[in-house]
Amino acid sequence: MVQFRYSEIQSINIKCIFLEIIHKLLKKMDELNCFVTQIMSVSPIMKIIRIKPDGWTLPEYKPGQFIAIGLYASAARCAEATQEHTQLEPEKLIKRAYSIASSSSHDFIELYITLVHSGSLTPRVFNLKIGDKIWLGKKATGMFTIDEIDPDQNVILIATGTGVAPYMSMLRSNALARKGKIMVIHGAANSWDLGYSSELTLLDSMFPNFSYHPTITEPGREPVGWNGDIRFIEEIWKDTIIEEKFGFRPTAENTHVFLCGNPLMTNGMTDLLVKENFKLHKKKEPGQIHVEEF
Ligand SMILES: Cc1cc2nc3c(=O)[nH]c(=O)nc-3n(C[C@H](O)[C@H](O)[C@H](O)COP(=O)(O)OP(=O)(O)OC[C@H]3O[C@@H](n4cnc5c(N)ncnc54)[C@H](O)[C@@H]3O)c2cc1C
Repeated sequence: MVQFRYSEIQSINIKCIFLEIIHKLLKKMDELNCFVTQIMSVSPIMKIIRIKPDGWTLPEYKPGQFIAIGLYASAARCAEATQEHTQLEPEKLIKRAYSIASSSSHDFIELYITLVHSGSLTPRVFNLKIGDKIWLGKKATGMFTIDEIDPDQNVILIATGTGVAPYMSMLRSNALARKGKIMVIHGAANSWDLGYSSELTLLDSMFPNFSYHPTITEPGREPVGWNGDIRFIEEIWKDTIIEEKFGFRPTAENTHVFLCGNPLMTNGMTDLLVKENFKLHKKKEPGQIHVEEF
């Protein structure tokens, strides 16, 4: 009969526990079901990232919808990160929602993300490199979509910061085939925070029914000046700029307005629009004001 000394049994136990931990970690790595395939820095705190599934097919989604991504708390945070508010267990999968910026016909998902220095997920996302793994939810969702709006209606897509992401998905999918006019008004602190401005400027020059109007709120920080708008979006709405681009004043009868990003802007604009007889869009009560807050 084989006999083990107490110290040998202890050593076998430790090895088993160690193997179990390795096994659990490897199993968890499997749950990170996508690869990061591209990273583009827009500004020190904004990145566009593309992710591709590792051996599975992306879910179908409508332009304007959002999807969840996730990383384990054991993933390292970027150097710019500040103290995290909550102490998380290393095996916790941190998940957050992001609007999809890519066309619904691509085999990758593109996201436009702002770094929240004290946040849980974004400092970990900002530490990723091409080829690293990330978790992606298998279902996109959300009602912030354009496809059920009559193609003859005009659409004004208003965003602050990364709120422009869902509009990129709409424009890159089928929105430009609409008959009505389309306008993007994008507000950011500085010109370098206006992600996708080159693509939007190009679309403006190519499509007669599309116009792009960027605005910045901190012109004093521009190193070489800024010739564009420096007003808040609410002031731009009250002005005649949209009328000049469209050839008529947008009303609740002829136009749908999408608002995405900072709640200060979405609330301010909603108040203005309601005074002009636009109605908030709800699932059971269709209206012309569509809101997505980050
Ligand atoms: C539908 C939808 C779409 C979105 N799309 C985008 C997008 O396209 N791009 C984008 O950049 N973002 C988007 N967001 C926001 C995104 O989901 C995250 O909320 C954001 O990226 C911050 O995540 P985080 O984990 O880094 O920060 P979080 O950990 O969620 O922290 C957010 C803030 O809360 C503070 N905080 C956290 N815990 C505590 C605590 N215990 N006490 C006090 N304060 C605390 C943090 O300091 C930080 O300031 C979207 C959100 C929604 C709902």
